Amino acid sequence: MSAHERARISRARRIVVKVGSSSITGDRVDQIGPLVETLAATHGRGVEVVLVSSGAVPSGMRHLGLEEKQVDLATQQAAASVGQNVLAAIYRETLGRHDIFAGQVLLTEGDLLDEPHRSNTRRTINRLLDLRTLPIVNENDTVATHGLRFGDNDRLAAMLSVLIRADLLLLLSDIDALYTKPPHLPGAVRIEDIGWDQPLDGMEFGKSESGVGTGGADTKVTAARLAAAAGTAVLVTATPLAADALRGEHVGTWFEPSPQAPGRILL
Ligand code: GLU
Repeated sequence: MSAHERARISRARRIVVKVGSSSITGDRVDQIGPLVETLAATHGRGVEVVLVSSGAVPSGMRHLGLEEKQVDLATQQAAASVGQNVLAAIYRETLGRHDIFAGQVLLTEGDLLDEPHRSNTRRTINRLLDLRTLPIVNENDTVATHGLRFGDNDRLAAMLSVLIRADLLLLLSDIDALYTKPPHLPGAVRIEDIGWDQPLDGMEFGKSESGVGTGGADTKVTAARLAAAAGTAVLVTATPLAADALRGEHVGTWFEPSPQAPGRILL
């Protein structure tokens, strides 16, 4: 099904793009520019685009001169406050060059799970999209309490995609696709497509090894399956391949959306 299915990406009218911390901070901060170009071009075609951007904690750590992951939770949460502001300034500047306003949306888990927060979150994001802004979402790391944290933005992005009924969720990280086992191991084979009801027995999805973000292949698979079960197609690929992915080229790992999800216009 793959080539045929991928070509349908160009029909998506509402897309959530999630980019991981390790793709846009530190040595890879230069990837933000090309990513924003891609998002702006997609937005320019009339598509509704929401960006879920990680990176607040590592960016704040770097600006404050702190060693990553070696500080207590309160310091990480304080660093997120600084880093979020840095990220917002970068997105404001880079999207502004394309005459696109960025809207900032910081969420805790309850904002996606509990009423009336859930309905209100959906309504505000819908309105931001109606206003042709590009909402930029992250977990509200500064106030999220330990037990309430999403834990990873892959899951946040999947839950958000379901809430706003996105046609496509694009999960971007450092790895070009998912593999049958961690890609550095012998015999690892790229997975091109995963059917909505396909069992994943025998596949081994590892945790993050970059030490920067919190998500790995395992969190991507869990998040992708959550979204696909609700009728949102998912593509997992590397940040530099975002433009190719959105052109429907044969990159990454495609999760077929469930045809059984009620009331969806399936890609
Ligand atoms: N919300 C965290 C941040 O902005 C990232 C969580 C994740 O890595 O998924 O740093």
